[in-house]
Amino acid sequence: MDIKNYCFKGKEEFSLQNYDTKDTAEFTSKKETIELLAANQARMAQLQDRLYAENKEALLIIFQAMDAAGKDGAIKHVISGMNPQGVIVHNFKQPTSEELDHDYLWRAWRVLPGRGDIGIFNRSYYEDVLVVKVHSLYKNLPLPDRCKTGELFQQRYMQINHFEKYLYQNGIRVVKIFLHLSKDEQKKRFLERIDDEEKNWKFSQSDIEERMYWDTYQEAYEDAIKATATKKAPWYIVPADKKWFARLLISQIIVDTLEEINPQYPELPDNKKALLSQCREQLLAETKEEEEKD
Ligand code: AMP
Ligand code: MG
Repeated sequence: MDIKNYCFKGKEEFSLQNYDTKDTAEFTSKKETIELLAANQARMAQLQDRLYAENKEALLIIFQAMDAAGKDGAIKHVISGMNPQGVIVHNFKQPTSEELDHDYLWRAWRVLPGRGDIGIFNRSYYEDVLVVKVHSLYKNLPLPDRCKTGELFQQRYMQINHFEKYLYQNGIRVVKIFLHLSKDEQKKRFLERIDDEEKNWKFSQSDIEERMYWDTYQEAYEDAIKATATKKAPWYIVPADKKWFARLLISQIIVDTLEEINPQYPELPDNKKALLSQCREQLLAETKEEEEKD
């Protein structure tokens, strides 16, 4: 499977319609992918260990999608093999009053991953060019009138491009994942949530209301992806109608990105190596002394 087929770096024409939500590459069933997913998770864990030890580069993985596209499940799968010490998941909900009191990137900035860490954003500052655009929420924001112009979203795309370039240049890689779901599959999953008692809690009436804006959301996604995909911070359009395929592809994207970063265990300087061998001598001498006492 080649992740390039799903990657958009912003050079060519872009239309979501050219991406099939049902695509499963060369696979026809979940069964065929179980071992591959497990192998990717194991590789991810090795690479994360090195990333953490090297403590230089950070990785930020952004998940965006329509409701019920499988973000939460995908995130759970991705991190299941990782060392929790080096992974931070952050959920972006409706902004709090404190968050609304600041510029829209403020809340993202505060939770960026540190060196050696992997940050996972479940939704992100992209909501500020998605839900905010679809419902014209900016009109109610406590912004000066001079900022509430028709240019607002064009300006935000540019700000996001600058922000992500800034992150790249400061040691944080950004990978953006759009889980691309069909409207039919969303309906199926909503019905499952309604019918299954264990899934009821995941459903809210607002999900149905948002569904009525499906086409406007698709347009907003298309515009945002088109405007913010770059070579250094690409978007991946992950077909999401088959959860097993989406999870496999996401694991491959993360493995390939970490391979590209190619983190290395730090090599100890000579004086540290000498110190280690001194410590070894000391510990071994201790055992000898104790044996002699016995
Ligand atoms: P969930 O991910 O299901 O917990 O839902 C979080 C909700 O918060 C979604 O409906 C988002 O659209 C909404 N949300 C996230 N960020 C923003 C934002 N900046 N402005 C308005 N709504 C937002
Ligand atoms: Mg929700």
